[in-house]
Amino acid sequence: MHRFFLPEGCIKQDSVDISGEIVHRLRNVLRLRGGDHIIVLDNAGWEYEVELGTMSREAVEGSVVGKAAAAGEPVTGVTLYQALLKGSSFELVLQKCTEIGVSCFVPVVCERCVTGEPGKDRLARWKDIILEAAQQSRRGKLPRLHNVVSFREACCSVQGLSFLPWEGEETGGVRDLLRGTPDSGKADEVGIYIGPEGGFSVEEVEYARSCGITPVSLGRRILRAETAGLVAAAVVLYEFGELNAR
Ligand code: SAM
Repeated sequence: MHRFFLPEGCIKQDSVDISGEIVHRLRNVLRLRGGDHIIVLDNAGWEYEVELGTMSREAVEGSVVGKAAAAGEPVTGVTLYQALLKGSSFELVLQKCTEIGVSCFVPVVCERCVTGEPGKDRLARWKDIILEAAQQSRRGKLPRLHNVVSFREACCSVQGLSFLPWEGEETGGVRDLLRGTPDSGKADEVGIYIGPEGGFSVEEVEYARSCGITPVSLGRRILRAETAGLVAAAVVLYEFGELNAR
């Protein structure tokens, strides 16, 4: 069944009122009709099975026929502090990392970023990408997209286990770090800091270290920035048991 996150207020006790772009998608793209069933999510941890009723060009009504806790969310909250990237690379990060279970994205301005801060349109596109990827991957909640911050601000908001993949790190690897956590195998919050195409400056690495963020290697191969975030997040989620059947 198709899944849709609905804006607040659309889902009542036993009925839903849908309007906006989703109506076009339901009627004209998916060609759904009255009697068909969809899943709608309130982004507060619940999902509802809905039987579609009347479908006009402007609005669709439906009846709630089932309610369940929205599954699909990792216990470990991964926040990806991703340096701004050129072109569609940042969008690729949002899409792929939403699919694997990242909970929050923080766009970061680093010294070597070569692209400016996103404008309104680009931010709206990023939100659409997260929404589409979350629906497609059956996420139970939408990952949050934080405002753009400076690298220093990003380092100051460190919470829980935080690391900074750095290709210049020659001793500590990500596996050593994750297996060396006091209560190895789990962490409530993990922060991952990924640099831009030109990498972090040594000053940035040292500043992060001074904030308790551990530089780690992701191996002897140099990954593109959009690859590194996905790999690091996947490794964390795997290590903490989130890439499992149950
Ligand atoms: N300075 C790099 C170079 O030599 O080409 C380019 C930086 S890389 C494209 C972008 C980001 O990916 C880095 O800032 C780092 O966060 C991460 N990264 C890529 N490969 C890595 C590796 N082998 N170990 C740790 N981090 C890596």
